[in-house]
Amino acid sequence: MTTTLPTADDLRTRAEAAARACGVDLASREGEMEGRSPVNGGVVSGLSWNTAADVREMVDAAHEAYLRWRVVPAPVRGALVRRWAELLAEHKADLATLVSIEAGKVTSEALGEVQEMIDICEFAVGLSRQLYGRTMPSERPGHRLMETWQPLGVVGVISAFNFPVAVWSWNTAVALVCGDPVVWKPSERTPLCALAADALLQRAIADTGHPAALSQVLLGAHDVGRALVADPGVALLSATGSTGMGRAVGPLVAERFGRSLLELGGNNAAVVAPSADLDLATRGIVFAAAGTAGQRCTTMRRVIAHSSVVDEVVERVAAAYRALPVGDPMADGTLVGPLLDGRSYEAFVAAIEAATAAGGEVVAGGERELVEESGDAYYVRPVVIRMPRQAQVMHAETFAPILYVLSYEDLHEAIALNNAVPQGLSSSIFTQDQAEAEIFCGPEGSDCGIVNVNIGTSGAEIGGAFGGEKETGGGRESGSDAWRAYMRGITTTVNYSGELPLAQGVRFEI
Ligand code: NAD
Repeated sequence: MTTTLPTADDLRTRAEAAARACGVDLASREGEMEGRSPVNGGVVSGLSWNTAADVREMVDAAHEAYLRWRVVPAPVRGALVRRWAELLAEHKADLATLVSIEAGKVTSEALGEVQEMIDICEFAVGLSRQLYGRTMPSERPGHRLMETWQPLGVVGVISAFNFPVAVWSWNTAVALVCGDPVVWKPSERTPLCALAADALLQRAIADTGHPAALSQVLLGAHDVGRALVADPGVALLSATGSTGMGRAVGPLVAERFGRSLLELGGNNAAVVAPSADLDLATRGIVFAAAGTAGQRCTTMRRVIAHSSVVDEVVERVAAAYRALPVGDPMADGTLVGPLLDGRSYEAFVAAIEAATAAGGEVVAGGERELVEESGDAYYVRPVVIRMPRQAQVMHAETFAPILYVLSYEDLHEAIALNNAVPQGLSSSIFTQDQAEAEIFCGPEGSDCGIVNVNIGTSGAEIGGAFGGEKETGGGRESGSDAWRAYMRGITTTVNYSGELPLAQGVRFEI
């Protein structure tokens, strides 16, 4: 597909209008740091960044807000999140425009990202009346034993470029109802998204009469992130990004005995079994592997197909890849937008070279597209590579649309291949055989945090806890009982017996 791309001026005008509509005071944030759009490589913002020295002040302000917020009843805290959801719905298109301009997502996925913010707000509002503790029978007469959950303190959030607003909202909506303020260090690639998303939350905070410092944004790069990570006033540090980032951040938090929640890289596979519905599998694979230009943590990077169906799977996926509309993410009909930048493109090319050097055969895709129109932007046709074995390059997450295909004979061999990489985020099996599906989801099955059946690896919904094992970091967010990470669980024994019997029958007479 050949498209023209918007000019840098056009994108900048649209970005500024969307940011202002959300309530950002651009003049007060004006500065030297240029932000570029992956859509055409042009400059779309000039903003002042924070310094590491600002961190302490912000964490102190957040702590002051915490002292007031922790005693606000949880359902009243929920009312603030409900107002935030209303504003997000009102400004869904504005925020989505910024997501497309700064992260390069196609419009439908950008709107989906904002919808996910609204969904987590709804989840959190419900949660605000369900922060359940438990009571347990005490072994002592006239005693009650119980567990309750109390607010934790300041939550630091570090987020990645590819979900520039949703990941923060997963953390923030839940943290707020749990009684915690948030200091956010967004990706340096998506500062306008961050300012706009925070401006909407600031409006909700003002409308409901709570302290402004419940939400603060720190614009900046790694140095600013590191200062947030190291600050002893941050009770929970929730960091989303590459495994390399987690490797730097995790030990720093551990060193000060802080709590961390890590959501890191993935390297996700789908097993396609002999009984799979290949129509459905093809659609599931193409969305998960080529959607978002391969730039989701849950992007499908490996297909492990049974030898009886592998040729047909490759043929069908390759045919779909050849026809995928690649181009301006905001144009109607585009399904694959740009890579983030030249470094992402270099990584794409290098991984294809490594795969072919290891005996891989490129079946379709791999070309750079829109070269003349895009200048400093990088559009590629997603690539399918048939591999003779799980070569070293397949053990790493290359953040670009590369799909490696392997074949297998026996389900346990397929599961072993699925599990043989360092990451453990998402996985899926396409099968009509219930026993196979159960084995894949059971104790001998996939070792990932997300294990799907007859659906691709990406596109999670709010409600189920999200996260993965091994180098993915072990964190869980946004659903089930993930809220407990944002609270302090306490155990209380109440004695109403008038006696003082000791547990385990211990005697201590005075
Ligand atoms: P990145 O690791 O380059 O950056 C992520 C964030 O961490 C940015 O805000 C960055 O400034 C900050 N950062 C990086 N190094 C740091 C350090 N040493 N100290 C403090 N802060 C630091 O990742 P990216 O390129 O923005 O995003 C892509 C990566 O994120 C992929 O690996 C993807 O799989 C992962 N990701 C994971 C999830 C998940 O939920 N598991 C979700 C989205 C993205």
